[in-house]
Amino acid sequence: MFKTIEAHVRKQVAPAALRAEFRQHEFEAMRPFCLLVFCVSILIWLVFDLIVSFLGGQGFTWLSCLFITLLGSLTVVLRFTRRSHHFDVLNLLFIASITLGMRLVIEGIPLALRPVWLVLGVSTVLYAVSVLPVRRWSFFCAMAITWVVLNPFYHTRIGPDELEGAMLISYAVFLSGLVIYSYLQMRKAKLHNFYLSKVLLDQAYVDALTEIPNRRSFMTQAERQLHLATPGQYLAMIDIDNFKRVNDRFGHDVGDEVLKRVATHIKASMTGYEFARLGGEEFAILFHGLDEQSAVEQVCGLCSRVREDHADHPVTISIGLVRVDRGDTLTAALVRADQALYAAKHNGKDRFVLWQPAL
Ligand code: GH3
Ligand code: MG
Ligand code: MG
Repeated sequence: MFKTIEAHVRKQVAPAALRAEFRQHEFEAMRPFCLLVFCVSILIWLVFDLIVSFLGGQGFTWLSCLFITLLGSLTVVLRFTRRSHHFDVLNLLFIASITLGMRLVIEGIPLALRPVWLVLGVSTVLYAVSVLPVRRWSFFCAMAITWVVLNPFYHTRIGPDELEGAMLISYAVFLSGLVIYSYLQMRKAKLHNFYLSKVLLDQAYVDALTEIPNRRSFMTQAERQLHLATPGQYLAMIDIDNFKRVNDRFGHDVGDEVLKRVATHIKASMTGYEFARLGGEEFAILFHGLDEQSAVEQVCGLCSRVREDHADHPVTISIGLVRVDRGDTLTAALVRADQALYAAKHNGKDRFVLWQPAL
């Protein structure tokens, strides 16, 4: 089953809105990691700067202070960044600053050692960028900035046609190709997994026939709502009257259409509240922020709406309504709603009954 759904998802192109949601979701999940990468990068750069400043004799100048301030400030900004597209830009500023800082450090070592250290620097930066949650344009810009600032042919006195130069170019091509490939493949795999979990979640929490939330969704959402203990919570349990007769007379397909129609009425009139198809021809709604009068008006309105729908196969519904008190469990509320529903059926159907202790 999983393989069938996976194969189906693989064939689809993820819609633009889903891609945007994925980027934001990925950034939110990886924000602590991005902060860690920024902090560790600054620390490593500082260690090398101190080595070159004191052991290499370059001296710890105002330029080092400037870079520390700049990189530190960008990290603070990241701490308060919430949108993924802001990170795309912020990361580029960080890459530009740290590669310039790396250039400063490498200018402090002997000429012959510089090309190797420049390429080491490029490899490190490119690897780090490839695992960060950045968009394609931001990734390629970061790559270009890194190669331009840490160009191993600039200020190193080696030519591209010499032995070392030719080896460097070959390595640069290999490194860039590898990083681009792994970045693109990883993004694709992550997007695919996100898409797949969305599809599976939808299937697990939406009723396949009526396309409204199912029992599992209702139990989860209603439990959460009950936990919040917002005032004025009422639970309504709805059952279609004489539904078996519809099936027996007109067939299961017509029965299914009736179920869909009732679900459409609930969906249209109950926006803002939790509702679901609990199973069979039973539905439930959890109201909040209502007084008794308003809750009664809501269920009364739903009964009339279904009754007055002059479709091919008209039906009516019965509703059991119960007030959910602070400390009530969902199961206890459902049992009481069911008792009220039973009373509504017993009293002649096509009506609602508000639960009373006498029931
Ligand atoms: P009452 O007014 O007392 O509720 O009577 P009823 O006939 O509605 O109640 P009953 O529970 O006897 O019948 C429910 C029927 O709903 C039985 C079952 O075949 C049918 N049913 C359950 N799920 C589906 C479904 O997904 N599609 C269709 N078409 N019928 C379903
Ligand atoms: Mg029933
Ligand atoms: Mg019924």
